[in-house]
Amino acid sequence: MQETIIYNDKQKKIVKKMNSDAVISQWKDWKWQLRHSVLDIDTFEKLLGIKFDADEKNVLIKTIAKFPLSITPYYLSLINVDDLKDDPIFKQAFPSPHELELSSCDRTDPLSEDTDSPVRGITHRYPDRVLFHISNICAMYCRHCTRKRKVSDVVSILDKNEILEGIEYIKNNRNIRDVLLSGGDPLMLSDENLDWILTNLREIPHVEVIRIGTRMPVVLPYRITNELVEMLKKHHPVWINTHFNHPREITESSRKALARLADAGFPLGNQSVLLSGVNDCPRIMKKLVHKLVMNRVRPYYLYQCDLSEGLSHFRTPVGKGIEIMENLIGHTSGFAVPTYVIDAPGGGGKIPVMPNYIISWSTNKVILRNFEGVITTYKEPDSYKTVFCDRNCQKCSLQLKVDDAEEYKATGISKLLSDFDKTDSLIPENTERVDRRI
Ligand SMILES: *Cc1c(COP(=O)(O)O)cnc(C)c1O
Repeated sequence: MQETIIYNDKQKKIVKKMNSDAVISQWKDWKWQLRHSVLDIDTFEKLLGIKFDADEKNVLIKTIAKFPLSITPYYLSLINVDDLKDDPIFKQAFPSPHELELSSCDRTDPLSEDTDSPVRGITHRYPDRVLFHISNICAMYCRHCTRKRKVSDVVSILDKNEILEGIEYIKNNRNIRDVLLSGGDPLMLSDENLDWILTNLREIPHVEVIRIGTRMPVVLPYRITNELVEMLKKHHPVWINTHFNHPREITESSRKALARLADAGFPLGNQSVLLSGVNDCPRIMKKLVHKLVMNRVRPYYLYQCDLSEGLSHFRTPVGKGIEIMENLIGHTSGFAVPTYVIDAPGGGGKIPVMPNYIISWSTNKVILRNFEGVITTYKEPDSYKTVFCDRNCQKCSLQLKVDDAEEYKATGISKLLSDFDKTDSLIPENTERVDRRI
């Protein structure tokens, strides 16, 4: 596999086409990269020495009027011009005329992030954690972005007061123990602004962990400066999740960025999106997860492509994801296997899906199959003393001897499983059957 060396010939050529005399130290300066990002089709053509025909170009211009274009010179340099149409980097960064096609299932806010938003910038869906959108711009606009209609939109930029309102919301909700900074890309903020937000969050006693979701290690690895890392370190525990989709995105520069973060003690995770024509292949995904773990990045989620507008050409059937999981589970290290999830339209949250491993079940045996197709029997214990749980932990023989344990409230299926709650079914609202009863 071809490697990208820092400031290689391809990168030098791009710089030359910019009529710039930038030296390597400038190329590696993230602010220089942002100032020289490609924002229009003409510049793209010029820097890569290609030409689209007039009709094609017209559609492309219309597309970026709706969904903006921005590619860092670094990410641009990873494009293989000789195989443009099939290039996974090109497909993630450069508009496709298909983005203007509306499919019947497309939605502008498929995950109901706005509906589940108590204050601007916050999505509160799960009991103990929130998404905090502190930026709405990115170094590179991914063509497959789920928040495509909102990124770069000036109306959705938060001002300082709105960020303070978000922080206030978190402060007033004592069950929030995990704050996920997202966007846009939070690392588009200056070190100072980010430090200010993190300092404020750290002052909240019930915030245990802070997570940052960023694609900088992929699209602008030079953003991971020593100064940034030193600042972030002050706010540990901070977890960082990034977004590699294809093994070719792991370059010498991105490796350095990841090493810098890992050395500073940030647990690193990766969230990939399953994309037609980019990574919908078990071999590509296996190569990707192997390269990630070599760089101390734990594959965290593999997302089924959302139902956002303009993404229909990227969607694969769910079966493709299951096939990929079938090819990973058991075949490679457990920690290299991400959880495949479908983010439920309408705000239901992430639903994990995977191949079936339980084949059948009786009162004393479970029949399972493994990754090789071996069918096997697990014998259930002959004597298992069922503990009736009335939630009286003081009297229980199991010892949860911690005084800061959360009050436990069962919801969903765990509520049906519990002994202390008498609920025995969950019935959707508005069923005809229930309506008839009234
Ligand atoms: C994904 C997500 C989270 C975090 O979920 P985890 O499964 O804990 O990673 C939190 N809030 C929202 C709205 C999300 O979409």
